[in-house]
Amino acid sequence: MKHIIGYIVLSVFTLTTAIAQQKIGIKHLQCEMLTDPLGIDVQQPRLSWQLDTEVPDVMQIHYQVLVASTPDKLTATQADYWNSGKVTSDNAMTVRYAGKKINDKTQVYWKVKVWTTQGETAWSNTATWSTGITTYTNWRSTRWIGHDQPFAWDSTDKFSVLSARYLRKEFTITKELKNAKVYIMGLGLYELYMNGNKIGNQVLAPVPTDYTENVKYNVFDVTEQLSTGTNTLGTILGNGRYFAMRHYKAYKVKNFGFPKMALQLELEYTDGTSDIIKTDESWKLTGDGPIRSNNEYDGEIYDARKEMRGWSTTGFDDSNWLDATYVQAPGGFPEAQMTPNMAVMDTVYPKSITKTERNTYILDMGQNMVGWLQIQTTGKTGDEVQLKFAESLTKDGDLYIENLRDAKVTDTYILKGEGIEIWEPTFIFHGFRYVEISGYRNIPKLTDFIGKVVYDHMQTTGSFESSNATLNQIFKNAFWGIRGNYKGMPIDCPQRNERQPWLGDRTTGAYGESFLFDNHTLYAKWLDDIRYSQTKDGGIPDVAPAFWNYYGDDVTWPGTYITVANMLYHQYGDKEVIAKNYNAMNKWIWYMYDNYMKDGLMTRDRYGDWCVPPESLELIHATDPSLVTEGKLIASAFYYHLLGIMIDFAEITGGHEADSKAFKEIRIALRSEFNKTYFNNGTNTYANNTITANLLPLNFGIVPEAHKEKVFKNMVTAIETTYHSHISTGVIGTQFLMRTLAEFGRPDLAFTIASNTTYPSWGYMAENGATTIWELWNGNTANPKMNSQNHVMLLGDLMIWYFEHLAGIKSSETNPGFKEIIMKPDFSVSLEYVKASYQSNYGRISSNWKKKRNKLYWDITIPANSTAKIYVPQTELKKIKLNGNKLTNSSFAKILANSTLIELPSGTYYVEVSNYKN
Ligand code: BGC
Repeated sequence: MKHIIGYIVLSVFTLTTAIAQQKIGIKHLQCEMLTDPLGIDVQQPRLSWQLDTEVPDVMQIHYQVLVASTPDKLTATQADYWNSGKVTSDNAMTVRYAGKKINDKTQVYWKVKVWTTQGETAWSNTATWSTGITTYTNWRSTRWIGHDQPFAWDSTDKFSVLSARYLRKEFTITKELKNAKVYIMGLGLYELYMNGNKIGNQVLAPVPTDYTENVKYNVFDVTEQLSTGTNTLGTILGNGRYFAMRHYKAYKVKNFGFPKMALQLELEYTDGTSDIIKTDESWKLTGDGPIRSNNEYDGEIYDARKEMRGWSTTGFDDSNWLDATYVQAPGGFPEAQMTPNMAVMDTVYPKSITKTERNTYILDMGQNMVGWLQIQTTGKTGDEVQLKFAESLTKDGDLYIENLRDAKVTDTYILKGEGIEIWEPTFIFHGFRYVEISGYRNIPKLTDFIGKVVYDHMQTTGSFESSNATLNQIFKNAFWGIRGNYKGMPIDCPQRNERQPWLGDRTTGAYGESFLFDNHTLYAKWLDDIRYSQTKDGGIPDVAPAFWNYYGDDVTWPGTYITVANMLYHQYGDKEVIAKNYNAMNKWIWYMYDNYMKDGLMTRDRYGDWCVPPESLELIHATDPSLVTEGKLIASAFYYHLLGIMIDFAEITGGHEADSKAFKEIRIALRSEFNKTYFNNGTNTYANNTITANLLPLNFGIVPEAHKEKVFKNMVTAIETTYHSHISTGVIGTQFLMRTLAEFGRPDLAFTIASNTTYPSWGYMAENGATTIWELWNGNTANPKMNSQNHVMLLGDLMIWYFEHLAGIKSSETNPGFKEIIMKPDFSVSLEYVKASYQSNYGRISSNWKKKRNKLYWDITIPANSTAKIYVPQTELKKIKLNGNKLTNSSFAKILANSTLIELPSGTYYVEVSNYKN
């Protein structure tokens, strides 16, 4: 994109190169979207960086990247892997490494320098990445070890009770060490220790996958933890999703087997030689350690009397441990993990503690959170402390556990009786606000407990505040719900015996979530999971990884594969995910077409408009036919929509003209059949006139042009009269409701629906004590069989509307990934102010507006290397001030019907509009 020139405010800032060097920095250097990743298996990774500056009107013109084997060699003449030379390009996001081939297990260093429209930068700081193990032969020579049977104290009937497996290995280093890296695959979950110290701050690692398809390995640099002489490696293996939590319905629940591990420790010496320590039968193993049970649904049992002091240090007496044995490999190909593990990301201090009649205590964390509780206690050896978790309380003040189904959600800590004991679990998590505590010898105090919030290690990217308290509380609830349900994959809920990566819950949600969290690598990984779960014929399941076997050949749930790829392109400018998944998505499109396109319509639907507000408050699903949108209508409209995205994908990836032509033809026929079947010309409504039945054809562009306005009007009337300006949609309709209302001209109605506090609404949830988002609109009254209090699927497109429509922070379609920002807030809604920001790949974007008397004030930040189109709600230029100057010069401002469009380069701007009328 060309540098935009000629704006008033900017000439003042003309800088010399020397000043620019001090004022324009480079930060956030990433390789494949990760900071200094170790063990990547992309041969030509994409490099990215951000310009860091307060200087306005900055656009990158050239860059130069150096990649070398040591930091010292990072000079133009010595860079032994790559000197890109001075490249003319404003790309700072996906610059592909194009240097010498980098062998496996090699660390390289890189830096970058940029020339901008305001002068050149100094060289950036040095960043690094290292390559992983890409050849199967290399991994094949590393055998999997474990103990493929239960221990005497384990139980593998319906509810698995399996002790964690501890493994250890001593080895000797005789030469001077230059570098040491561990490559570990520990399933289901591992903890890694070296000479008694835990390696890394990850928890619940690695991210879950279908282990028969692919297994993620993690890499750690342990050079600092080693010394000459004897050293000791220790690992603990937990079940995670490998050893299933439940053993019933074998056709449905996948069980991969007993925990196992394959590991390589690569030792490089200063004399140029190297050694490798691998998993083999010389490792020792026991299940007789303190973690007696670890089951994601049921909790962890920890017997501190069984602690083995020094078990991962040299000299520990392991004579009563078993020899590890070679076990069958999981079957999946080893792959580098290209998304961060989970970590403890936040802490919550409890708000109150209350004694019950049973002599137990109920702790209130004040927030429905996901993670676990750290406790501090004292007592006698063998004392048993129990923690039971729930999301809410009954009227009598007891834990409400009916909605958890058969998940036991109980942690047990058995004391060793040695003074103050502090404990937290290792291989499980809970979704909870309340904890019932029993077994304390002393009266428990609030300070004995800390809530640890656990989710994928990702940046919080968005902030939002407005003058409306309900909108603010909903935002907070969404924030907690979204992050809590990230578990190396997006799951539906964190508390009951489910916790599955259901596709349909994220179809549009993933897009809204991306404003709050940098979920780029998480969702890119999820697309891999989905691709791996595809059947030979092309079918995509409703749950992926397919820990639960749900191949129902639906359209809406599997279609998430396509919409999430589209989100990654739109929000992050990532084309690679589309290229990588194009064939599989295309195969699915045709699989559905060949099998389920009948008489011109897509006939397969499984869930309908899941979870609409039902006719009576105790129901989970509506049965009244006037509330139910026909499945075939939903499937057909959705398929039409997905084909539209596929046409874009065919263009983006190139070379798919035949596909694109075919998709267009199907769309034409489908649209015509759809309207023939469902459109009522006389009433200008669709099918049985549910909101969703009208919303989908409107939003997807199916409605005949001449009828659009009338259909929209009728839909609005139905919302206002039949539903009293409240929500009536479920998981499907809610994905399009807010944007359709706003874009077709009723932002005020979108606002009313969003800010309602009466049933059904997001505000109603908050009003009734929700601190996250419920699974059901009637979550406080419905049958507990399916009634989680921490689901995110009903958010629909609400968060997109917050950022794009209220704040006016939106990426353009043509320059995705916020290279160009479209700032067009719906100022007319009943808000006095909005303050929002978003950390884009280019840097921080902010939009703060407030109305005061007859004026509108709007402060904007546009990061370097991007531009914005802002829409000011005033058509008389002299009534607009930009950075204090009246806009008399119209050369860069374009007057439109109801606003003035101004194109701006990066910088901070203050817009003032006088004579502003709402
Ligand atoms: C899950 C949902 C899911 C649905 C589909 C529920 O049990 O919690 O989030 O999408 O089933 O059947």
